Amino acid sequence: MDNKLVMGYWDCPICGTKEIRGDVVNCPSCGRARGEVKFYVKGYNEGTLLREDELKQYEQLDAKKAEEMGDRPDWYCSFCNSLNSDKAEVCSNCGATRADSEANYFEMLKKKQEREAAELAAQPQAASGPQKKSRSPLAVALVILLAIVAIFAWMNSSKTASDLKVTSLQWARVINIEENRMYSESGWSLPAGAEQTDARREIQGYNQVLDHYEDVEVERSRQVYDHDEYTLVDNGNGTFSTVAQPVYRTEYYTVTESRPVYVPVPYYGTRYYYNIWRWSPSRDVTASGTDHNAEWPAFELAENEREGQHREEYRFTVEHTEKKEPAATYRIAESDWMNINVGDTLIITSRRTGADPYIADDKGNRIADIQQVR
Ligand SMILES: [Zn+2]
Ligand SMILES: [Zn+2]
Repeated sequence: MDNKLVMGYWDCPICGTKEIRGDVVNCPSCGRARGEVKFYVKGYNEGTLLREDELKQYEQLDAKKAEEMGDRPDWYCSFCNSLNSDKAEVCSNCGATRADSEANYFEMLKKKQEREAAELAAQPQAASGPQKKSRSPLAVALVILLAIVAIFAWMNSSKTASDLKVTSLQWARVINIEENRMYSESGWSLPAGAEQTDARREIQGYNQVLDHYEDVEVERSRQVYDHDEYTLVDNGNGTFSTVAQPVYRTEYYTVTESRPVYVPVPYYGTRYYYNIWRWSPSRDVTASGTDHNAEWPAFELAENEREGQHREEYRFTVEHTEKKEPAATYRIAESDWMNINVGDTLIITSRRTGADPYIADDKGNRIADIQQVR
């Protein structure tokens, strides 16, 4: 389809008369020559794509009218600010020559838009909307930072109880006794010190081996040209051109592809079966008390036993003398525990993050780390 011309319309900026045909150069109401106007097509939003059948609802110019109006932009008279046909060499409004004017319709429109933008920027800011949006990123960052600092300060804040009396001490010491035992095991190698009882060829794993190729149908897609759609583009002289744009559709098709097919093929290794002696935890011997005389428990070893890991734990229990809160028990290092006696008054500080509490002196300084026993 050829570039057919469509009739444009304009509104008179002086008297406000609407929808004046593009082939009319003087306002039928006030008689002024058209100057700073923006052409449009009735019922069409600039940029919208139209199908061929939708084009019919817009007023298309016949060949004679199209020839008469053409598609060249009007020139803009610098002296009287009116628009003149590209075919005219002299301003129909004031008689000035085209050679003395430098702008056409599009340049006029561009300058007009720039002027309006500049006027908008120069206006004092409206009290409502736009001001809120323009809060500086620095201020936002500062607010976030302050919020983070506040949260950390709260999490680090601590509560201190100073009405605590020690009501009991506890200690416990545990020695684990290990036993030398024989285990029957198997593996792909024989560990040092093992007594082999058997060795067999067994499947150790599988390799994926290419067996054959097979044909598979694979769906593909491609974009193919379908039809043209049209936009109406301002020629700047009261006409609009229909500009074609290709529209594509997705076409699906299948291709045959050759794909490898793999099969799992086992590979074999020697699996060793053996007996092996290992030391393993067997039993605990424990000593405990409620005084300061902590000691390791006495024990006797059987022939196949040895001394294993040692564990020890020291605790104290405190009760509130003023607040009605339950008694609490804490774990503490032995050296600190030796300095605590039943009847002592303690200051214990705990933090909201759940970090370990500590014993403080009356100035709030940390004396000893402790962990609460739940
Ligand atoms: Zn008018
Ligand atoms: Zn003029």
